[in-house]
Amino acid sequence: MSDDGIVMLAWSDYVGVTRCRAVPSSQLASRMESGLGWAIAGQALTPFADIAPNPWGPMTEVRQIPDPSTHTRVDIWPNSPALDFVLCDSRNADGSDWDCCTRTFLRKALDDLRAETGLELLSAFEHEFVVVGDLPAAPPFSLEALRNAAPLAHDIAVALEAAGLNPETIEPEYGLRQYEVTVSPALGIAGGDQAIMTREVIRECARQLGLRASFSPKPYHDGVGNGAHVHFSFVDEYGANATYDPTHPSGASAVARSFIAGVVRHMPAMCGLVAPSPVSYMRLGPHHWSCGYAAFGIQNREASIRICPSTSKDPATAARGFNLELRPPDPTASPYMVLGALVRAGLEGIRAGLELPPACDVDPSDLTDEQRAEMGILPLPSSLPEALDLMLADDVVMSWMSPVMAESYVAVKRMEQELTEGETDEQTAERYRNAY
Ligand code: GLU
Ligand code: MG
Repeated sequence: MSDDGIVMLAWSDYVGVTRCRAVPSSQLASRMESGLGWAIAGQALTPFADIAPNPWGPMTEVRQIPDPSTHTRVDIWPNSPALDFVLCDSRNADGSDWDCCTRTFLRKALDDLRAETGLELLSAFEHEFVVVGDLPAAPPFSLEALRNAAPLAHDIAVALEAAGLNPETIEPEYGLRQYEVTVSPALGIAGGDQAIMTREVIRECARQLGLRASFSPKPYHDGVGNGAHVHFSFVDEYGANATYDPTHPSGASAVARSFIAGVVRHMPAMCGLVAPSPVSYMRLGPHHWSCGYAAFGIQNREASIRICPSTSKDPATAARGFNLELRPPDPTASPYMVLGALVRAGLEGIRAGLELPPACDVDPSDLTDEQRAEMGILPLPSSLPEALDLMLADDVVMSWMSPVMAESYVAVKRMEQELTEGETDEQTAERYRNAY
């Protein structure tokens, strides 16, 4: 149904919710420069109706300034208006960067990576979700599970292509009514943009069929978790994969090896940014392939960061396909915060010239305490309060945020924790299932 309807100016906040205000499509052009105002206090929203204590009063606003490169329009539903949105940077009234904007958080990290190494980040998320609604049950990974959701899978492929994204896989996952979608990786800030676009397109496809796609890290307390693993590599000025060095036994280049070491070092403290909800800790943990330790591994799905070598015999294809994967993140984190934290942690490793940690080739939870200590493998936090305490104790991680961002972000997260105190796991899972 083609129409001139509305276009939503959208942004991703601290809690990874895509918020928006809309204008008639005919007025988008006139909004490109000045955007729309937004009361900053909104940044203190939890994913629920509650607003955390914050330093912002009723007066202060930022401008939500659309980035035309993110304009996403999907018009494939005959009886429904197009899904039409454009992602925004939040800027101060004078046009300067707002130091609490999640997209700016990522952009600045990417700027530093480029300035210090000459490299660009190429990244893609794996989007796991559970369909809530009337779908028959079927065995994990089965053709039947995918055919039970055939109209949804079809629409996701068509809608992602219409949105200018390049879907790579649409598959049944392990969990009941759980599916996973990937799109081709994108350079720089577009890696974060595409993750948001992909999730919103999937949500819309489900909505149009009377279903709901829930990206909560643990949609059901006794079910399988949804991760938001990030695959990434670096591209040098010649377009080559700077993560790869076939002469090193690990296959990773010197810069990638130090980057991995930086991520491993800060991983427990980073969880407050990439696995940032009470429900995140119902997902994270050993034996679920979501990982419970800040370990590095080659292929190892129980490692927080792993090397994914290409299986191609063709050297050029093998070089292109070689990538790294960060596994703890989940969809309650803004993709901008996930990628920003990843780049910041890796950059710390590069600056310090850290050596690649020993590769763990078993489930790290099967090692003894002594063996883990020998390999320098630390556990990931097991609750949001623990994650926040570790983050607050890590001066390096705290330095990635402006003081006001750090304070307001932690206040929101503390409030989320308070809201779930006294709830059963089932209630908390339901609360987050309905919000994400
Ligand atoms: N669902 C798992 C998680 O929560 C990941 C499964 C997989 O390896 O794809 O991270
Ligand atoms: Mg998966």
